Amino acid sequence: PEPAPVPAQVPAQGLASRLDELRGEYAALQARGLRLDLTRGKPSAEQLDLSEALLALPGEGVHTSENGTDTRNYGGLAGLPELRGIFAELLGVPTEQLLAQGNASLTLMYDTVVQALLFGVPGSERPWSREEQITFVCPVPGYDRHFAVCEELGIRMVTVPMTSDGPDAEAVAELVATDPSIKGMWVVPTYGNPDGSVVSEAVARRLVSMPTAAPDFRIFWDNAYAVHHLTAHEAKSADAIALAEEAGHPDRVLMYASTSKITFAGSGVAFFASSPANVAWFTKHLGIRSIGPDKINHLRHAMFFGDAEGVRAHMRRHREILAPKFAAVTGILADRLGDLGVATWTEPAGGYFVSVDVTAGTASRVVQLAKEAGIALTPAGATFPYGRDPQDRNIRLAPTMPPLDEVRVAMDGVATCILLAAAEAAAG
Ligand code: PLP
Repeated sequence: PEPAPVPAQVPAQGLASRLDELRGEYAALQARGLRLDLTRGKPSAEQLDLSEALLALPGEGVHTSENGTDTRNYGGLAGLPELRGIFAELLGVPTEQLLAQGNASLTLMYDTVVQALLFGVPGSERPWSREEQITFVCPVPGYDRHFAVCEELGIRMVTVPMTSDGPDAEAVAELVATDPSIKGMWVVPTYGNPDGSVVSEAVARRLVSMPTAAPDFRIFWDNAYAVHHLTAHEAKSADAIALAEEAGHPDRVLMYASTSKITFAGSGVAFFASSPANVAWFTKHLGIRSIGPDKINHLRHAMFFGDAEGVRAHMRRHREILAPKFAAVTGILADRLGDLGVATWTEPAGGYFVSVDVTAGTASRVVQLAKEAGIALTPAGATFPYGRDPQDRNIRLAPTMPPLDEVRVAMDGVATCILLAAAEAAAG
């Protein structure tokens, strides 16, 4: 059923009386004829330039891995050991339990779900597709492409709220305890998309130890932003795979990561890590699908980084580029909206997004106003399953791609749109 629309909240008093003034401000914004874009969670060209040296690696005549493998040839299904070693350290998993694969972790997630539907996972009574219904728990706001995978594959989605410590673990525990159709859940544990929250150790422990009605329940632990810090405090992800084993559910966690936002978004390396049983299961199907991954790309990445510290140092250079853009977003929101009561927003310590909650019932109006002033924003609702935000409140801002001066101009315009939409709602 369609969620019932929530009527617009009446925002801070006095805003309705500023309607004419804000309309004037908005007209001036439109008159500037801007063409700005805050929709894309992509690295900027300046960030991609940090990895330019990759294009000359491994170099003619260099193609042998540390263990003597000729990377030009077929084979090596699990990926190049030296690169797996580097990322095993960063992700806190044993190297044997980590696979290095193609350029997209989303593909690995999609493959996992498809394989589960076709064959079941270790512990399944039958392929998931033979069940009457499959359900995934989706913390919201969340990553639209996770929801798109479920939608395309006919998986029902139930939502739980995000908190500053990750998904509301009690809400999840209550759902999974009694509903055997719930086979999975999405989690972005470090610097969540879009809210930037980091899953606390307590939440991680609860999620890996809670009883589930389905014996083959899986957590899709998408650690896309594991090393993508925006401050000097480098948050460490909870060791979900080890914690799950400790809790007696060794096969519960499937972990994903990639270098898409470390090196090249279109030509990085994706990783999958899990329990020995899950890795064996995944590898068995992988071996039918492929004779081996692009080991030359693995070799070039291993040479480029050298070791885990090389990745951390590289990420500090990303941080230098990104931190001022995020500071501009949150600074302008604070200056313009302050304590007017028309919006709340996240101040992420990492990741790629700022999540803004505007006056309920006005998010789509804000996005429309911005569009008509030449500022492209992610469609309202995108952070919810089926693109429907029941409160029409959440907007995802992606400030990484445009240059800093454009981020500033765009955010000032967005603030005007948020205020005007709130004033319109207050005026009725
Ligand atoms: N997971 C999350 C949470 C993301 O935000 C993104 C990209 O925006 C991805 C996965 C995509 O990762 P990849 O490029 O490895 O497919």
